[in-house]
Amino acid sequence: QKAEWAKLKNEATVTKDGVAVELGANIGTPKDLTGVLDNGGEAIGLYRTEFLYMGRDTFPTEEEQFDAYSAVLKGMEGKPTVVRTLDIGGDKELSYLDLPKELNPFLGLRAIRLCLEMPDMFRTQLRALLRASVHGNLKIMFPMIATLDEFRQAKALLKEEQAKLESQGVAVSDSIEVGIMVEIPSTAVMADTFAKEVDFFSIGTNDLIQYTMAADRMNEKVSYLYQPYNPAILRLVKTVIDASHKEGKWTGMCGEMAGDEIAIPILLGLGLDEFSMSASSILKARSQLSRLSKADMSAKVEHILGLATSQEVEDYVKSL
Ligand code: PEP
Ligand code: MG
Repeated sequence: QKAEWAKLKNEATVTKDGVAVELGANIGTPKDLTGVLDNGGEAIGLYRTEFLYMGRDTFPTEEEQFDAYSAVLKGMEGKPTVVRTLDIGGDKELSYLDLPKELNPFLGLRAIRLCLEMPDMFRTQLRALLRASVHGNLKIMFPMIATLDEFRQAKALLKEEQAKLESQGVAVSDSIEVGIMVEIPSTAVMADTFAKEVDFFSIGTNDLIQYTMAADRMNEKVSYLYQPYNPAILRLVKTVIDASHKEGKWTGMCGEMAGDEIAIPILLGLGLDEFSMSASSILKARSQLSRLSKADMSAKVEHILGLATSQEVEDYVKSL
């Protein structure tokens, strides 16, 4: 099996009926690049930049960030590279950022909320990204967007920094896509509205499941509610994909679900454009997708979304 997968390393990802989809990797540091290329990643669907901020005593400087982002963009040689802006808070803390303790950190000041609260810190990251953009195919993604207003504010800061750099004669790519993670139910529900303003969506199922099911993703006691195949989740995913396509935009998925053997056929049927997963899962997923027909799975999606429980969905997909 491993030998069969290895043959697929330099192949495109194409279904049995000839439809191409993109398989990307999730990374945490520039060191992860080798794994992406060794496993035939066609893109980076999620670069979690918070690791640049963690395990140290001070904020990373603009130059340090510029170096890290440039290294990743250069290493990808023009392949799509989605960089997520700082997603700190929740389970991830910074020793040098003395934030008040919160009763519900996962519902608190995290990710884009924190970045909008601390615009100087955010602007530094945005400048580093804009400057690095000339080294590859950069797409910028904001995490934990709950309202259109948050997206507009974040994008306005990005545009301000871009204008400043350009007025200083600093080169910035003119083709940077700006998108959002869909990981909060309000945003999935409002996807049609967001789709008019964003360039792309990437569904973060790790959090989307947690917030939809109201079940802490770290709490073993409620892990039975962590149900990627629950029709409630699948219907939200469909809402997001359909809304993006209606506006000519694309939707990826960068939560664990994107690399899941049961989920992959369903996501293909729903029309997901990009699957981003840990690099080690890419070749297996490419092999699976080559044996699936998109037309066939699209025809089965209505039935799947009409099923009542997560277990029914799982049993049905296994029976195919
Ligand atoms: C997600 O929420 O699905 C996601 C990809 O982001 P993280 O796991 O970093 O919260
Ligand atoms: Mg998340």
